[in-house]
Amino acid sequence: MKATFDLVIVGAGPAGLAAARAAASSGVRIALVDDNPRAGGQVWRQGPGTGMPVAMRETLSNLIRNPNVTHYTGARVSLFSGEHEMIVSTACGSGVALSFGQLILATGARERLLPFAGWTLPGVTGAGALQALIKGGMPVRGERVVLAGSGPLLIAALATARSAGARVVAVLEQAPWRSLLRFGVSLGATPSKAFQAIHLTQGFAATRYWPGSVVREALGGERVEAVVVRRGERETTLECDRLACGYGLVPNVELAQLLGCALDHGPPHPHVQVDELLRTSVPAILAAGEACGIGGLAVARIEGAIAGHMAAGHQDDARALLPERDRARRFGALLARHFAPGARVHALATPQTLICRCEDVPLGALDGYADARDAKLATRCGMGACQGRICGTALAELGRFPRGAGRPPLFPARLATLAGLALSSSDASRSST
Ligand SMILES: Cc1cc2nc3c(=O)[nH]c(=O)nc-3n(C[C@H](O)[C@H](O)[C@H](O)COP(=O)(O)OP(=O)(O)OC[C@H]3O[C@@H](n4cnc5c(N)ncnc54)[C@H](O)[C@@H]3O)c2cc1C
Repeated sequence: MKATFDLVIVGAGPAGLAAARAAASSGVRIALVDDNPRAGGQVWRQGPGTGMPVAMRETLSNLIRNPNVTHYTGARVSLFSGEHEMIVSTACGSGVALSFGQLILATGARERLLPFAGWTLPGVTGAGALQALIKGGMPVRGERVVLAGSGPLLIAALATARSAGARVVAVLEQAPWRSLLRFGVSLGATPSKAFQAIHLTQGFAATRYWPGSVVREALGGERVEAVVVRRGERETTLECDRLACGYGLVPNVELAQLLGCALDHGPPHPHVQVDELLRTSVPAILAAGEACGIGGLAVARIEGAIAGHMAAGHQDDARALLPERDRARRFGALLARHFAPGARVHALATPQTLICRCEDVPLGALDGYADARDAKLATRCGMGACQGRICGTALAELGRFPRGAGRPPLFPARLATLAGLALSSSDASRSST
């Protein structure tokens, strides 16, 4: 199947939805593509365990009523078949070729998972992943949960886990107290974030919150039963039924890389390079939200609107939002400064620690290889279902190999999808000759 649109937006999180809303008012034909079954992205993830936030309901109802907007749900973009044509694999296994005049990449971010002994045991997830599972309906009532890693996502996960009835044993933040105090002081410059922090932490005074702590090892047989925590110079063991451990977020830049868009290599992490008005280095391609650097919900919504106005040709409307965007972006800079993983986190993986959990490759097996490609060919590291998203990011973070560009297809795609598209395009070329 083939379809043609003036504008395709990849990602139906806060940035993609805001972009669609801003552009839709001018009558352009829009396709909104997202691999989740429902719109919302990470922070507005919908599911049986969560309601729809008001801001999202308003945006969605506006889009649903608009006949120019087509929403492809459960649809993943994994390769491009031409300069302005992408292949979308749907959940039912069929493929769609979408042609576009302009493209907005609102592909968001994923969690930064840094390996340690036992991180692949059942019951161990990322902190945001635990939130996503709970929102998706996974029961945790009465379970003992340890939250670990770094950054405000731990507090958001704490709020979600507690409201679902979990018993949070402890929150282990790798950043030391002095970083947290400085972060708290600097939040004064962004009162909305300070208010959000107070709101999320209300009623949690009795919860153990240990700055300067890392999980050294997850212990268990069939699944996680306890964690060994390094707290300063001491070690403590905490029993638990779940461990949710994530060290902040990294932007999803792989689609932009496939299209040849330039990246800004950071620090703190590679993100899509854009100009003031969110134009990438490739003509007709814009990017917005977490893909352009971690900044949070407010940034995603404002940048989405800017990109949508730009795609619709309303540069003045886009420019009017720039001061708001600059203010919101300052929060991302604060996060990067105060929650950067310290040396102790980078020292957690030993030669025996599994680094590629898809293909069961330990870190020590990668010794002696010149680059990620050599290591991949010899050990299968990065060849599994996640296509190196998790291990590639971790290895770059550990200073082993810089993260290279992904190869198409970015996600495993069914042969039937690709074959079906190849057949329909050869039919089309036969009928046009
Ligand atoms: C696991 C997790 C939990 C989070 N929880 C919170 C929270 O509780 N509170 C908070 O303030 N922030 C949270 N965040 C931060 C969050 O990234 C931002 O606040 C906000 O969601 C960013 O909006 P966005 O539109 O830029 O990206 P996202 O919301 O990430 O949306 C991007 C969308 O694009 C889709 N996508 C990406 N690539 C493709 C592709 N190739 N094909 C099809 N679809 C694709 C993704 O599946 C996703 O739905 C969380 C982040 C993560 C990773």
